[in-house]
Amino acid sequence: VIRINADRLLRDLKELRKFGASGPGVVRPALSPTDVQSRHWLAERMEQAGLAACIDGIGTVLGRSRQAGKAVLIGSHTDTQPTGGWLDGTLGVVYGLEIARAAAESNAVAAIAVDVAAWSDEEGEFSSHLGSRAFSGEDMAPTLAEARNRQGRSLAEALATAGLTDHPLTRLEPGRHVAYLEPHIEQGGRLEAAERRIGVVTSIVGIREYKVCFVGQQNHAGTTPMAIRKDAVAGLLSFAAALNGVFTRLAEGHDTVWNIGRIAVSPGAPSVVPGRAELLLQFRDTDTRQLRRLERALADLVEEANRGPIGVAMEMIDQPVEPAEMDVRIIDCIASAAELLAPNQWIRMPSGACHDAQILAPHLPAGMLFIPSIGGISHDPAEDTSEDDIVLGCRVAAEAVCNILHGHR
Ligand SMILES: [Zn+2]
Repeated sequence: VIRINADRLLRDLKELRKFGASGPGVVRPALSPTDVQSRHWLAERMEQAGLAACIDGIGTVLGRSRQAGKAVLIGSHTDTQPTGGWLDGTLGVVYGLEIARAAAESNAVAAIAVDVAAWSDEEGEFSSHLGSRAFSGEDMAPTLAEARNRQGRSLAEALATAGLTDHPLTRLEPGRHVAYLEPHIEQGGRLEAAERRIGVVTSIVGIREYKVCFVGQQNHAGTTPMAIRKDAVAGLLSFAAALNGVFTRLAEGHDTVWNIGRIAVSPGAPSVVPGRAELLLQFRDTDTRQLRRLERALADLVEEANRGPIGVAMEMIDQPVEPAEMDVRIIDCIASAAELLAPNQWIRMPSGACHDAQILAPHLPAGMLFIPSIGGISHDPAEDTSEDDIVLGCRVAAEAVCNILHGHR
């Protein structure tokens, strides 16, 4: 077994929280001065833990075990949303640090190699999953040339300011890693509702995003009779109602979720029949076939709506994100660790949020474990988890690492 030090784990989590602390939350967007400072702090901590640490040309901090032989890679991200919480991402990175440190201290398992990664820009300040994409071998030149944050600062400039321009990119070393493990807070309320303390992730959702536009005829809202007006908003509302009905039927027996997150109306005045309206629709599921069914249903609804007086058109507005299955053997390694340390207090569950594990899953056998988020709250300064759950999660992750490496002896 790897015996983790609970006090040291909590101390490091709280230490890292100080970089960008803002009330209970953390403001540490990728490659901001605070984020860069925290990466140097982390690299130093990794060195103290006996790892060979570097910050690569995209901002990822990688700590490599000096042990020869197969390694487990534990990782997550340390950047936050513009106003984020203190555990999203950070938890998995500090678990990795503590597990690497504890493994090095334990004579019985001194031969266990644990590498630790803090990926750059998971949250998409410049471009989502930047670090894990680079590590997976994606050609980063187009992103480096184009990506900018909301303030218009270019990624290339941010990297130059951080002094990282000449740093090489770390890439996945073929044959080195037997698994990628990403512990993370749940960021939802399933575990709490089920009164469980560990979630063993089976798959991560894929995402589709569409814009649907409605074009009618702008006109006087007093003088245009109801029977002849072409009201774009009336078209949008009946379309949205029909969509909810169809998606509700299709979602039966699936983990499908969908959201109309934005509605815009033009010109937007009480005395004017709206000539244009649009909605942004996002839907997620862990099954690609289900995503295709939903896409077909959406296209059918658009076609049907187009037979009426309002013109309806749809377009995909973001690159589709494909679902990722976690590796069955890694799932079993995490599940048996959970059963040992938290018997009957864990469940298997999908992840409704995206994670770096999704990017790495096609390249390495990947697995994730969740610990509960109090009140299901995340991406918010109030995000929190009880210290007992934080410690338990790290113990389960450490045990899972032993299980994974044991299978490779
Ligand atoms: Zn995260």
